[in-house]
Amino acid sequence: MSRVLIIYTGGTIGMTLTENGYVPNQDRFHAQLMKMPEMSSDKMPKWDIVDMDPLLDSSNMTVEDWNSIGQIVADNYQNYDGFVILHGTDTMAYTASALSFMLENLNKPVIITGSQIPIFEIRSDGKDNLIAALLVAGSQKVNEVCIYFRGELLRGNRAIKYSADGLMAFKSPNYPPLAEAGIDINFNESALLPKPESNFRFQSLKNIPIGVIKVFPGIQFDLFRGIMTQSLKGVVIETFGAGNIPSNAKNLLPIIKTAFDNGTVVTVCTQCPQGTVHLGTYETSNALKTAGAVSGKDMTTEAAVAKLYYLFSKNYDTDTICRQMEISLRGEM
Ligand code: ASP
Repeated sequence: MSRVLIIYTGGTIGMTLTENGYVPNQDRFHAQLMKMPEMSSDKMPKWDIVDMDPLLDSSNMTVEDWNSIGQIVADNYQNYDGFVILHGTDTMAYTASALSFMLENLNKPVIITGSQIPIFEIRSDGKDNLIAALLVAGSQKVNEVCIYFRGELLRGNRAIKYSADGLMAFKSPNYPPLAEAGIDINFNESALLPKPESNFRFQSLKNIPIGVIKVFPGIQFDLFRGIMTQSLKGVVIETFGAGNIPSNAKNLLPIIKTAFDNGTVVTVCTQCPQGTVHLGTYETSNALKTAGAVSGKDMTTEAAVAKLYYLFSKNYDTDTICRQMEISLRGEM
C-alpha cells in the first residue's frame, strides 16, 4: 500500500465563515477528515497530514511559504510515495509553478488541490478533489508537480486559475490534461514528463525583486522608469497577442534598453491565455527583441515569474538566465 503525505497549507477547502469573511479553521478541518469514511477506505493510500503554521489564505503566500512547503516535501521525500498539498485556489498556479522548479529531478507525484466551496458545505467540491488527489498521489504514475481540480490533472506550471467562482476553476490552455477522472482515472501517458535521470534535490528560493507589467492601450511607460532600476532583477511583460507592444510609444524602448543594460532579465509573455509569443513577427514586437528581451513563448505569467525566482536563486549569470528562460526545464513551455 502506498503512503502519501498531505501538506495542509490553508485555502477555502478548510475555511469557515467569520464576521470578517472566510478564514482557515484547522480543528474543524481535521475533525471533518476523521468523519469522512472514504479517508479510511482500504482503496485509499495510507496518509498522514502535516499542517503549515499559520494556515493561510493563499493570497498571503510568500516565497518563504513556498520554501516551507518545499522543505516539508524534501524532509519527507524518502518516507512517502507521493504528496498532496491542500492550498487556496487564488495563488495555486504560482505555488505549483514554483514547486515544479524547486523540486529538482522529482520522481514522485506532488498533487496540489483545494476547493471553491469549503468541505463543510453541502455542495462542496472539496471532497472529490481531495480523494482523487490522494488516489493520484498514491498511484506512482506521475513524477511531477500537478494541480488536480474538478476531474482534471494538469501540469502545475501550465495551469492558470481560470474562474473566480466556477467549480472548474483551472485550465491549462497550452498543454493537454495529464489525466482525466471520469468513471476511471485515465492518464495521458504521452503527456507526462519522463522519469528524471539524477537524484532528487531541493532548491530553495530567494525573494528576488521581480516585476510584472501588463501592457494596455494608452500605457504611460514613463511611470515604469522608477522601477526599472538596477535592483530589479527580472520583469515579465504581458504583451498583446504574439508579443506586441505599442512600438510608436517612443518612451518604452529606452526603458527596456536601460533595463537590459542594468542586467534585468526582460521576459515577454502574452496576455492571451492560449498561444505563444513570436518576437519579430510584427514590427511591434521586433523592437523588444532588438532591445534584448527574451521570449517567454507559451509560458504562463505564473510560470515565468516562478522561473525567474528559481534561476536567480541558483545564482546563474544573466546570460545563462536569459538562455534558460527560453528553454523548457520542467515542461513549462
Ligand atoms: N482566497 C482563497 C485562497 O486562495 C480562495 C480559495 O481557496 O478558493 O486561499
